[in-house]
Amino acid sequence: MTTVKNICCIGAGYVGGPTCAVIAYKCHDIKVTIVDVNPTRIAAWNSDKLPIYEPGLDKVVFDRRDKNLFFSTNVDGAIQEADLIFVSVNTPTKKAGMGAGRAADLAYVESATRRIAQVATSSKIVVEKSTVPCRTAQSMRTILEANSTKEIHFDILSNPEFLAEGTAIDDLLSPDRVLIGALQTPEGIKAQQALAGVYQHWVPKDRVLTTNLWSSELSKLAANAMLAQRISSVNALSAICEATGADVDEVAYACGRDTRLGSKFLKASVGFGGSCFQKDILNLVYLSEQLNLPEVAAYWHQVVVMNEYQKKRFVRNIIKTLFNTITNKKIAVLGFAFKKDTGDTRESAAITLIKDFIQESAHVAIYDPKVEREQIYMDLADSGGVVDTRQQVEKQVQICSNAYEAAQDADAIVVVTEWDEFRDDQLDYAKIYAGMHKPAFLFDGRLLVNAPKLRKMGFKVNVIGKTELA
Ligand code: NAD
Repeated sequence: MTTVKNICCIGAGYVGGPTCAVIAYKCHDIKVTIVDVNPTRIAAWNSDKLPIYEPGLDKVVFDRRDKNLFFSTNVDGAIQEADLIFVSVNTPTKKAGMGAGRAADLAYVESATRRIAQVATSSKIVVEKSTVPCRTAQSMRTILEANSTKEIHFDILSNPEFLAEGTAIDDLLSPDRVLIGALQTPEGIKAQQALAGVYQHWVPKDRVLTTNLWSSELSKLAANAMLAQRISSVNALSAICEATGADVDEVAYACGRDTRLGSKFLKASVGFGGSCFQKDILNLVYLSEQLNLPEVAAYWHQVVVMNEYQKKRFVRNIIKTLFNTITNKKIAVLGFAFKKDTGDTRESAAITLIKDFIQESAHVAIYDPKVEREQIYMDLADSGGVVDTRQQVEKQVQICSNAYEAAQDADAIVVVTEWDEFRDDQLDYAKIYAGMHKPAFLFDGRLLVNAPKLRKMGFKVNVIGKTELA
C-alpha cells in the first residue's frame, strides 16, 4: 500500500480548511498544505483570527500550524510536492447559461484539475472532495489522463465530505463514516487503500467505507437530499399543525421514537439554509432531468419548493398578525447565520425574510453574535432578490450589537437562528418586553423559546407549527 506523506488541499474554505487541519492534527507524519487563490483568505488562516468560525477549529489549527500544517497561495508548489491532492473548491449553482439555477458550476473543479495536470512533475492521487454531480470524476480523469506520461500517473478518488457547519470539528474527529470511492481497477483500489490509511490514523476501520467511484459521488447528493427532505417533510406538517391544533414538536417526537425513522432532523423551522442543501438537491434534479427521468426530478424538486413555501408562509403570517401591515414598523431579527455556531450566511432564511420585510417598508434591526456587519449588508444588497441597492438597505436596516438594542422600540421580534443565547433562560425577555411597542409580538421560527412563559410576561407569541387552538 502506498503511504501518503504529503497532502495538498486546493481550496481553503469551510470544507478544505477544517478537513485538512484535522488530518494534520491527527497525522503528524504527514505534511499538509492548504492552498487557495484568494490571498485574503490565506492571510486570515495564517493570522490569529481565522476566516471561518467553527467551534474547536482554533485549537486544531494553532496546534499544528507551521509544524505540519501550512496555508499558502503557492498552488503550483504545493501540487508539485504532494503525493495526494484534495480538490475542495466551490461548486455553486450555475447563475447563467445552460442549466442556470439548477446545475452545479464545475468551472472551479475543472480549473483546479487542469492546474494539477499542467504542473505535476510526479504521480498523484487526486481526490474529489467538493460535492459534484455523479460522473464528474470521469471529466477530471479525461483531463488528467491527457496529461499523463510514462512517468506521471494520476489516480482519481471520490471522498465527499459529510461534516455539518457548526459541528465540523467534532464531525471530522468522530465521523459516522468516511466514504472513499475508486475505480475498481488494481491501481484504483491501491489509491483507495492509501487514502483509507490516512483516515485510519483516527477513524475506526469499520467506519471507512469503500465503494465504486460513482456510488460515492451519488451518495453525497443523496445524503443531502434525504436530510433536506426530512426538514421539508416536518415543515409541511407544521402548516397542518397550525391549522389543527396539533403541536409539531409532539408530532416529530412521536414519529421520531419509531426506530425506523429516528429522531434527528425532525425539527420544524422557518426553512433550511446553508450553501449545500438547496444546491445539492437542485444538482440532483438537474442530473435526473439530464438522465431523462422527469418524475424523479419533480420528486426531489418538491423539497426545495416546500422550503421556499415555508419562508413565505412565515412572512405572510407575520404580516397578517401585525394587523396586515408592517409599513414603518420595527422588526427585530435575532440571528442572521443560516444556523447556530457558524458565521456562514449562505442561503440563510434570514436573507429571504428580511428582503421581504424591506419590500413591505418595515424597519429591520438585526443582531447576530457571529456575522460581521459588512457581510449582512452585502447579503441584503445582493441584487438576486427584490432589494437591489445598498442605499435602500442601509436606510431600512440597522445592525445591532446585542438583542436588547435590536428589540428596543420594536413591534415584533423574529427568531431566525437558533443561537443558544436567544433561549429564554439566557436572554432577559422581561427586559426586552419592557422596551418594546405594545402589543409586543414574538415570532419563533426555530421553536426555541418557551411560549407559555413568554405569554405570561405579556408577549403575543407565535411559533412555527404550534397554535393556541384548544
Ligand atoms: P468555499 O467557497 O468556502 O471554499 C472554496 C475555496 O476554493 C474558496 O476559498 C476559493 O477561493 C477556492 N478556489 C476555487 N478555485 C480554486 C482554484 N482553482 N485554486 C485554488 N483555490 C480555489 O466552499 P466550501 O463551503 O468549502 O465548499 C467546498 C466544496 O465542499 C463544495 O463543493 C461544497 O458543496 C462541498 N461541501 C461543503 C460543505 C459545507 O458545509 N460548507 C459540506 C460538505 C461539502
